[in-house]
Amino acid sequence: MAGPEKKKILVVEDEKDIRELVRYNLEQEGFSVLEAEEGEFALALVQRERPALVILDIMLPGMSGLEICRAIRLGDETARLPILMLTAKAAEVDKVVGLEMGADDYVTKPFSPRELIARVRAVLRRALGPELDRPHEIYQRGRLRIDFDTYQVYLDDREVELSLREFELLAFFVRHPNRVFERAQLLDMVWGRDTYVEPRTVDVHVRRLRMRIERDDAHPELIVTLRGVGYKFNDAALDV
Ligand code: CA
Repeated sequence: MAGPEKKKILVVEDEKDIRELVRYNLEQEGFSVLEAEEGEFALALVQRERPALVILDIMLPGMSGLEICRAIRLGDETARLPILMLTAKAAEVDKVVGLEMGADDYVTKPFSPRELIARVRAVLRRALGPELDRPHEIYQRGRLRIDFDTYQVYLDDREVELSLREFELLAFFVRHPNRVFERAQLLDMVWGRDTYVEPRTVDVHVRRLRMRIERDDAHPELIVTLRGVGYKFNDAALDV
């Protein structure tokens, strides 16, 4: 996905770290991102830029996310604009998706970037209708095939069972081959910055993933360890 047809997504969130995390992940997926810290500016951007979707935090200075949502729904031209709410509390969920507010979906903090992207895609797909549905996003190289929409992984045409986190880790690796990532970077990118987990968790998941996808997990060729630095995905090993 590239070029002039990038879909614009407006992210309304006053916490800079979350905004940047969301922006980074959306841009990685080929979206272009607009940012607003508060409601007045957000509504001005909605009018001026006509984003394809708005990601809206509830807790904001000034107008709340719920008030912004209502204002968007009341506008003739923006009434059907897809809105994905960010909520910090499960208790807010009823309000958010209630008929009155009419948000299309929500994600509860802390969320994983992968989860957020999946929701964004689902809401956009629903909004655009089935006629604009795109073919599945597939990765295929050598003996590995990944269907990113159905979360299915095949090695030599045989399906491999992965946990969601193992899948996310593998998906990250194949999208960023031949680059070394420190464990802390993998935690940020795959687990998300809002989640606190020990760096050793990465090692545990890498070990499990190797057991599933390496020919000999005692001598890994795909997920290579760079001692004292981190891990690298060696996609050339898929061809042999
Ligand atoms: Ca906030």
